[in-house]
Amino acid sequence: MRREKIKMLSYLKFTEDSDDPYRCEYPNNSYCTECDIVYIDKNWKLKADNEFKKNPIVCPACKKIKEEYYEGILYLKGNFVLGRKDEILNLIRNEEKKQRARTALSKIGKIVENAEEIVVYTTNDRLAYRIGKALFKAYKGELTIRWSDDNIFTRVYWERND
Ligand SMILES: [Zn+2]
Repeated sequence: MRREKIKMLSYLKFTEDSDDPYRCEYPNNSYCTECDIVYIDKNWKLKADNEFKKNPIVCPACKKIKEEYYEGILYLKGNFVLGRKDEILNLIRNEEKKQRARTALSKIGKIVENAEEIVVYTTNDRLAYRIGKALFKAYKGELTIRWSDDNIFTRVYWERND
């Protein structure tokens, strides 16, 4: 009952892969025609030689992005955020890179900016959480994390005004 244990640790309350409706098996050496990641021995690799790229598919992360199915959404608010937009967007992209190196299916689908906030949509809950933690670590402010009842969707709110 590993899942129950994980549920008790709020900071580790992430979706088990088995809960992911986009999870499925692919033939070995499948590769994504959108983002070029490669499926080798049941693992997604960010980089692989061309000899491993035999079966063209669209990976679960790119499918989610196409269908706008986002498991993580991060809301960034406050004067501080809007005043340092470029710096903050850089940090977000760097965190995505870091997470993709660990889990190739962690991707930012889109970033929407308006006058009051920046909203970041991610293909898994972990990535939204990690970006929120990275922002908090770098700039403090106020970080709030909300999990849906079934744990699939995570909403992360970060705000700093001064
Ligand atoms: Zn892909």
